[in-house]
Amino acid sequence: MLVIPLIERKRDGAALTAGEWSHLITEYTAGHVPEYQMAALLMAVFLNGLTQGELDAITEAMIGSGSRFEFGSAVPPRIDKHSTGGVGDKVSLVLAPLVASCGVAVPMMSGRGLGHTGGTLDKLESIPGFRTDLSIARAREQVERIGCALIAQTEEIVPADRKLYALRNATATIESIPLMAASIMSKKMAEDLNGLVLDIKRGSGAFLPELQDGLGLAQTMVRLGENRGCPTVALVTAMDRPLGSACGNALETAEAIRTLRGDGPADLLAVVYALGVEMLLLAGLEQDGPAAQRRLERVLGSGAAAEKFAAIVELQEGDPHVLEQPDMLPQARLREDYVAPRSGYVTQVDPRFIGRAVVELGGGRQKTADAIDYSVGFVITARPGDSVVGGEPLATVHARDREGVAVGMRTLQQAIVIESSPGGALTPLVSHRVTRDGVETVD
Ligand code: URA
Repeated sequence: MLVIPLIERKRDGAALTAGEWSHLITEYTAGHVPEYQMAALLMAVFLNGLTQGELDAITEAMIGSGSRFEFGSAVPPRIDKHSTGGVGDKVSLVLAPLVASCGVAVPMMSGRGLGHTGGTLDKLESIPGFRTDLSIARAREQVERIGCALIAQTEEIVPADRKLYALRNATATIESIPLMAASIMSKKMAEDLNGLVLDIKRGSGAFLPELQDGLGLAQTMVRLGENRGCPTVALVTAMDRPLGSACGNALETAEAIRTLRGDGPADLLAVVYALGVEMLLLAGLEQDGPAAQRRLERVLGSGAAAEKFAAIVELQEGDPHVLEQPDMLPQARLREDYVAPRSGYVTQVDPRFIGRAVVELGGGRQKTADAIDYSVGFVITARPGDSVVGGEPLATVHARDREGVAVGMRTLQQAIVIESSPGGALTPLVSHRVTRDGVETVD
């Protein structure tokens, strides 16, 4: 295939045809297009963008590069959720079993930690024995049996994205809205869904901190989903502070378990319910938001979601006793409290500092092949808006050695800002709802 004329056209701001994109993705996945030519093309896309037709064509070709889920008509409506990633974001661990307990099938394919953000797979794998590397056949069987599987992207699913993502990572082309949208949506569309809910994070802990970029990504992904016949709704949620208190894999899993057992932080629950409502509405199980929220609250309160999580853990070879004994999760050797250096008001808890420090403590990867220490991280009880007294504990560092404790303490000093007067209003936890009809602000 002649790639140079395609690079020239894209470089000069013109569009390629759907057929050209399709052929290119197929040939690239088969190893017939050299990485350097694809890298040049990706940079041209980064700089010049894609038309909607090009984006639809790339996404379709990426989906077609591998196998996909195929559920029989007997399986209830299948709805998934995808988050653009944040710090302390353990929503999936609560939301998936909760919504599955309401009668929705949730074939959830998640990712690992990326940059300063955590990943659902790493959190789940902090449970002794838990496996996320299920084949499509096994995951499908599990969804048919108990309504939910929490899995990793396998070799079989969207292999084009595996190659393209690695290349983007090495060529500074990750932060391209159309390339992100195609990458995320191709994987989601391979799940044979009846609906998709997107959690678009905004704020310093998000990949795209600016609201306008988040809205642009949301609108692009909603259009892609809808164009492929998958009703898609996006909520923009706050990531200018960590979600919940725990940041770090096992600590977040423990917090998710407490939430499933009825003792979760209010902000985490609010985001879980907001996304859960959209999932129940897309599934057609409820006709209005308040009824959907009541159903979610009832099911969570009944303990059914905690039981569902235990069933998922057991089928995925983890130890389900973790629900009664979260102490089974890896525990850090050292724990040390960070206390308020003075009295005043907490005006900021910056999630980006916290997320980076979790990686530095060993809880994330600096290189793809790095092993993770699941036990490390932070529990931060201070929230923006709190009034605090000097000497009062605000957070705990969980580290494997003294050096880690020192990193944690330094980080908390930078991340938690205390001032003499209260800060301005916080970004609403859920600020916008994006559908095919447009963008609404949420009160
Ligand atoms: N997650 C993905 O799967 N792809 C991207 O491009 C960015 C985040």
